[in-house]
Amino acid sequence: MSRGFAARDVALYLRNRLIRQLTRLAAARDRTPPVVPLPVDEVIRGSRTPLALVRLLEGRSNAERESAVARYLRARGVPFALHRFSSDEGSGENFAVDLGAGERVLLLAAHHDAVPGSPGANDNAAAVGLSLSLIERLAAAPPPKLRLRFLFTAAEERGYLGARHYARETDAGELAGVLSLELCGIGDSVVIWDAEDETSFLRAVGAALEGIGLARDASYHVVGRIPMFGSDHRAFAPLGVPAYGFTLVPSANAEALRQFVWSPVRGAIRHLIRRPAPFDTYHTPRDRCSTLEPAALALALRALEAVIAAVA
Ligand SMILES: [Zn+2]
Repeated sequence: MSRGFAARDVALYLRNRLIRQLTRLAAARDRTPPVVPLPVDEVIRGSRTPLALVRLLEGRSNAERESAVARYLRARGVPFALHRFSSDEGSGENFAVDLGAGERVLLLAAHHDAVPGSPGANDNAAAVGLSLSLIERLAAAPPPKLRLRFLFTAAEERGYLGARHYARETDAGELAGVLSLELCGIGDSVVIWDAEDETSFLRAVGAALEGIGLARDASYHVVGRIPMFGSDHRAFAPLGVPAYGFTLVPSANAEALRQFVWSPVRGAIRHLIRRPAPFDTYHTPRDRCSTLEPAALALALRALEAVIAAVA
């Protein structure tokens, strides 16, 4: 283990402890009534739009969220690979669904866990709902020359633990690119983040977004490494794979968001006072389905379908 890696682990550990403390403080003050989750079977029998599928996870414990994803896939007859991991840091189950054939793999990750105390709708049931919806839409006619892998990870909120375990056993050579879907349910512009270098995958993503009428620096943004946040894609970046975060934000908040994510000290203070959407509900008891925007989920779905077509 390199020193750089150890330092990153310590930083992650501290960041996550801080977030947990802040969440506990906020939850203690929050008077929002808890979400009453829908029975899993009711969700499975219901509509398969991303928004309806958010209810598969919303308001459940992490153990229940994990088993709900597996139960959904089994009930819908979707074959998946189960990847169970266990270590000193924690344990959990990742699920991988492959669609299509081909040598190259486009991996779309969506973590199924949430921060305890938060119903975890935008973080990250929305991304799980989007992925499940995409599986339903693409299963009949997957791209002919590309394998799509939908990876549902555990324990992202503990330093992307599930994704780190998964990445260790992955053949990095077959990965054309990785997108980690995070906070996809609020906003009208797409942000591709942790995109430090120009890669052919990044060019394909940009071309796909422009192909559906989005304009760079207006309705979509490509930004470098964000210091305060991370997601599952960071488990794959050290393998030399182009790996980015995929998030939606309200374009009206662009300036406030820039301040929030790029200046850690001011960002930390804002964390306690007033955060711009979508971070006003992030990791709080208010992150519930009713705050999600159908138009945001529709845009995310359109953008991801365009990316899949462009990479294929
Ligand atoms: Zn998340």
